[in-house]
Amino acid sequence: MTTLTIMQGDITRQNVDAIVTAANAALLGGGGVDGAVHEAAGPDLLIACQKLGGCPSGEARITPGYRLPARWVIHTVGPVWQGGNAGEDAILAQCYRQCFAVAREYGLRSVAFPSISTGAFGFPVRRAARIALTEIKQMLRQTEFESIVVVCFEPEVYTAYRMLRAEIGV
Ligand code: ADP
Repeated sequence: MTTLTIMQGDITRQNVDAIVTAANAALLGGGGVDGAVHEAAGPDLLIACQKLGGCPSGEARITPGYRLPARWVIHTVGPVWQGGNAGEDAILAQCYRQCFAVAREYGLRSVAFPSISTGAFGFPVRRAARIALTEIKQMLRQTEFESIVVVCFEPEVYTAYRMLRAEIGV
């Protein structure tokens, strides 16, 4: 049985096999969660990212975690919210699926996710939480992990994820 935990906190502190970061397509750092991840991991993370040559939205890449407690960082690029009719939902769902695919490929047992796309990229939080938890629920039917953690930074995001968790029943 995989344990799913939804918590409020800082993803860079998570002691898991991999943390996911919500990057932008250049993979060269920035603000929000990705800025925090780069700062905590140290400059080697940027050097590793530079070698990847970017990442299209909906896809995921992996690097070591360097100074992070997590051994790996999975970099995914969420959709920028454009009103909801530009395929944003499908791209966000694909981010979660691709992160899980990378985690499986590397034999990882525990993965922490932030709320992808709901910061600078402007995706509405409840809608994003529904997609995230639906994908996580689907994944947990197919693959067993030790632990999946969703780390919400802001209280309102945490509340939204907890409500959607109850609604979806995951
Ligand atoms: P995006 O560009 O995909 O919207 P952001 O980093 O701007 O990515 O925001 C995604 C979510 O990550 C937001 O809810 C933001 O508050 C949250 N966040 C920011 N810093 C952290 C952190 N250290 N740990 C976990 N979540 C964080």
